[in-house]
Amino acid sequence: RIVLGIESSCDETAAALVTSERVILAQRIASQDDVHRPYGGVVPEIAARAHAERLAPMIEATLADAGMTLDQVDAIAATAGPGLIGGVMVGLVTAKALAMASDKPLIAINHLEGHALSPRLADENLAYPYLLLLVSGGHCQILLVEGVGKFRRLATTIDDALGEAFDKSAKVLGLGYPGGPALERLALQGDPKKIPLPRPLVGSGEPHFSFAGLKSAVLRAKQAMPQRVQGCVAGSVIEPAYTDADIAASFQQSAIACLLDRTRRALSAVGPVNALVVAGGVAANTAIRTALEGLAADHDLPFIAPPLALCTDNAAMIAWAGLERLEQGQSDPLDVAARPRWPLDPDAEAVRGAGV
Ligand code: ATP
Ligand code: MG
Ligand code: FE
Repeated sequence: RIVLGIESSCDETAAALVTSERVILAQRIASQDDVHRPYGGVVPEIAARAHAERLAPMIEATLADAGMTLDQVDAIAATAGPGLIGGVMVGLVTAKALAMASDKPLIAINHLEGHALSPRLADENLAYPYLLLLVSGGHCQILLVEGVGKFRRLATTIDDALGEAFDKSAKVLGLGYPGGPALERLALQGDPKKIPLPRPLVGSGEPHFSFAGLKSAVLRAKQAMPQRVQGCVAGSVIEPAYTDADIAASFQQSAIACLLDRTRRALSAVGPVNALVVAGGVAANTAIRTALEGLAADHDLPFIAPPLALCTDNAAMIAWAGLERLEQGQSDPLDVAARPRWPLDPDAEAVRGAGV
């Protein structure tokens, strides 16, 4: 079976055609990084308009890439939330129109479920249940994934998401937008032991994450950084005691320490699982992948991380979640609503802060 996936919940416009045999027949992604860069972050109104301009021609092009028509597609899956509501509505309305015109089922996908199931698109051997670390621009959660739509949230952030902490720290270091990948590159040149940064909640009895204190410490470290100054001898320069790269490396090291500690705690609290899995945009970070791989090995568990292109927002993961739901005979009515907030585990307790 073949599903057309549509993604438009943040600043990536994307369409993909994926088969039940895990073949990505075609996929296109248009990033809006250039559009939002002058503002240092995603501007929702501008994002919605860019999605509206790009999506329809992109779907046509994706079908053309695969040499297919809409008639050959079995269902249309689109992100219906959570995310920036204007963009979500563009994608969902487009999917509804296509479903109506072609008389194919519509499948409304939770964007987070797209991330959460993406490792199963990448690896046919990954079976439920698995322990998932979902680290993205808006979320930082540990979930027990027991099946399609069956999630138990074991931990979430009580303040910032990890991707958000990466992006804001990158901004403090003048790395521009989006900052995560740039911060990772800069960290390679720094000494992670140069600046002791906080590791919020490490060793704590509660299961959750916190990154606000780490982010603020990055700002303080940057502000306290001595400038390069003229030495007494003409032409000589006194270098600062630490560099931006040292701050980046120390930030990343602290973030990894938090991830490892919290994930270790979750592994000891949860029953048997088939694998330790990471997904979401921050899962593209090589240092984080390597650290988690070590943790999985310590627990004699396979470690599964999707290829980088499947970590950040894409439509193949939405098509795949649609395929998993289609296999279960699920589809949604044409009046299904877009949802700005949509927790994967509705039974999870609310925690301090904004995390869902
Ligand atoms: P959500 O999925 O929670 O709704 P989102 O869709 O905006 O949020 P994603 O596209 O999944 O988030 O991930 C984007 C985030 O991943 C950004 O914060 C970005 O900085 C971060 N990111 C991407 N690559 C890396 C990297 N190599 N290292 C660290 N962070 C990264
Ligand atoms: Mg993006
Ligand atoms: Fe995402």
